[in-house]
Amino acid sequence: MSEFRRIRRARTAALAAALAGCAHSAPAARPEPTNPAAAPAAAVNAQPQPTASNALADSLLMDVRAVDSTIRVEARYAGSHNFTGAPLPGYEANRAFLRREAAVALGRVQARLGTGGLGLKVFDGYRPVRATLAMVAWAERTGQTHLLDDGYIARRSRHNQGVAVDLTLVELESGFELDLGTPFDTFSAAAHTANATGRAARYRQLLVKVMEEEGFKNYDQEWWHFTYDVPNPVPFDRVVR
Ligand SMILES: [Zn+2]
Repeated sequence: MSEFRRIRRARTAALAAALAGCAHSAPAARPEPTNPAAAPAAAVNAQPQPTASNALADSLLMDVRAVDSTIRVEARYAGSHNFTGAPLPGYEANRAFLRREAAVALGRVQARLGTGGLGLKVFDGYRPVRATLAMVAWAERTGQTHLLDDGYIARRSRHNQGVAVDLTLVELESGFELDLGTPFDTFSAAAHTANATGRAARYRQLLVKVMEEEGFKNYDQEWWHFTYDVPNPVPFDRVVR
């Protein structure tokens, strides 16, 4: 509790959603990394797999707001406020789905944060395979394949399996975003979870602590990206609607 109180006292203006935001992702599958820089990304990569059926997606994925309607959702890839500047294929609604176990765990996180007047805002959860392919095409088209190689944009994302989520902290009542040091989808070392100071560092530590205590793991190159292990995850291409 005291941790929440300290953080609430220190809270300042929220992060304006105005920041350029956007590109985030879980790193791509690279079975044979050729340099040390590739290694961290491999930890969160998904292996290439056949896409599972929409029927299976419907039976395994769950809307996070069905678990707790106080979780805020701002699906960045459903609109133009993302690193590509346009909605991505496969996103047709401002909704966030996860594998049921992960969605339920996220509800536990929300409940715990709520005791301190805080809550979650989700930027992305389950991501259709076609959206990931569009991200990769964007990187290639714009000459930024280093973002693929450096682990910022995934060729095969755990988001496709519904076991990764991108989120930040907000004030529960107002929805005001706290400042965690960088906008969502910042593709630089400033987004590495350990690279923050002062209030932003404390917010990151709080987010990681509560998420990890409920079973999630943080990706150390992106403070907003967390994964949740489920048995035999499979990728889907079900449209978000
Ligand atoms: Zn992510």
